[in-house]
Amino acid sequence: MAIVIYARKSVERENSISCETQIEYCKAMIKPDERSEKIITLIDNGFSGGNVNRDGFQKMMTLIQKGKVSKVVVYKLDRISRSLSDFVNILQEFKEHKVEFVSSQESFDTSSPYGELIIKLLMVFAEFERTSIINRVTQAYAHRSELGFYMGGRQPYGFELVPAFIHNKKTKMLSPIPAEIEQIRYIFEIYAGENVSLRRLQDILLAEGRIPLNGSDWTTAKISAILKNPIYVRADSEIYDYYEHHGVRMITDNALFTGEYGAQLYGRSKHRSCDTDWSDMKLVLMTHRGVVDSDIWLKCQRKLEKNKQLTNSFSNPTSWLAGKVICKKCGHTMTTIKGKINKNGEIRRYFNCTGKTHKKNCTGPDCSVYAEDLENMVYDCISGKLSEIKGFRNTDKKNHAAEVNDLKLKIKAVEKAEKQLMDTLLSGGCSGNLLELANQRAAQLENEKTALYEKIEKLNSNDDAKAVVIEPTKYWRTAGYEKKKSVAMIMIHQIIIDEKGNAQIVWNI
Ligand SMILES: [Zn+2]
Repeated sequence: MAIVIYARKSVERENSISCETQIEYCKAMIKPDERSEKIITLIDNGFSGGNVNRDGFQKMMTLIQKGKVSKVVVYKLDRISRSLSDFVNILQEFKEHKVEFVSSQESFDTSSPYGELIIKLLMVFAEFERTSIINRVTQAYAHRSELGFYMGGRQPYGFELVPAFIHNKKTKMLSPIPAEIEQIRYIFEIYAGENVSLRRLQDILLAEGRIPLNGSDWTTAKISAILKNPIYVRADSEIYDYYEHHGVRMITDNALFTGEYGAQLYGRSKHRSCDTDWSDMKLVLMTHRGVVDSDIWLKCQRKLEKNKQLTNSFSNPTSWLAGKVICKKCGHTMTTIKGKINKNGEIRRYFNCTGKTHKKNCTGPDCSVYAEDLENMVYDCISGKLSEIKGFRNTDKKNHAAEVNDLKLKIKAVEKAEKQLMDTLLSGGCSGNLLELANQRAAQLENEKTALYEKIEKLNSNDDAKAVVIEPTKYWRTAGYEKKKSVAMIMIHQIIIDEKGNAQIVWNI
């Protein structure tokens, strides 16, 4: 039996992740006890995921049909297929041949019951990205070719450029200058407070004789530039959302925004003077550690924006389709803004081309694209797409073995945490308070373990073969904002709005 690593580089998307990187991610998914198994790597470079006529893919299916494969590992679900019904059929075939299926980015595997997979695939619950990937981030970190090198330009205040080797390449990375970083933190903290304007902050810095910026005086412009720079923030998913909502192209995967590293915004400089036009900008996560917490950083952004009284401020209600809506005319992201009060006394949100507002070189669609209308339409389309798989209710006997295995793995994880806790305690130097906390944690872990064992027992004693009924459409109907957004994120690549305001959905799968 062999493990197949399958990689495909899309023709659809420029800048899509390379097959080599995909394979690196996949390798990280192979468990220690599987290392002795034969690993077959199959690659389709430059093939579309729209159909299954791909050499590597066909080779894989032949191997599976011959019963030679125990497991398939991919970087992302859409590497297998972009067609939902194809995808489900392929999964069905995997299942028939007892092939486990693991996806690195969506982080699930089919050693848990099949039905759960379908639900997980379609319902990508909000915590999905946050919790389940987090364990993997450490592994991903080692291979993060998506992480940025310094993009050049003058080094930001607070850092110096030092030579570094990343991915065996000689490059430079930012290294903090402690005295200057202290100033940076101070600036953010003061500005985040009540009643402190940029002007007032400037006065405070001058009055306190704080170290001036690169030898020159502090000016409000310089302070403002510091406050806006993501190089200082410990970029987490909030920061990701913030930039994504502003139409910035996100270069680094969401999963890597762990609240540790700084980020760099870069792109065409000719529009940089315009604070709100970020549509040509890109954001990449850097290799240096951030120095300001994301909540303080975001507080400062809101204040800066409020002070400028921007018409399309961050406080605008967003849409769960945010970041996915594209103007066909100019290719820019469309973001939601509030309209004026209409005859009925309502204020409606509508999607506005960012190219239209800031560059005057795109007039956007000829009619208003109301967010509510677009959301309703997309909601219906997703419902329709989900109903395609209605026939795939899982009527199998509940696979207790797999569930028990899953629970056992969880117990192992708890035991590992216990061991780590013990090691920490044994390494000494624990004060009374810490010891108290450690005891509490130990008790908590013990309880978790007991609960898991109880679950296993319950499963083993309960032999009723109940059919697992999966109704994705039902889940979708009851989905809240966050779930809707997550589902839209995984299912939809883009929504393209043409001149007449018609929407075309480009699906991920
Ligand atoms: Zn446009």
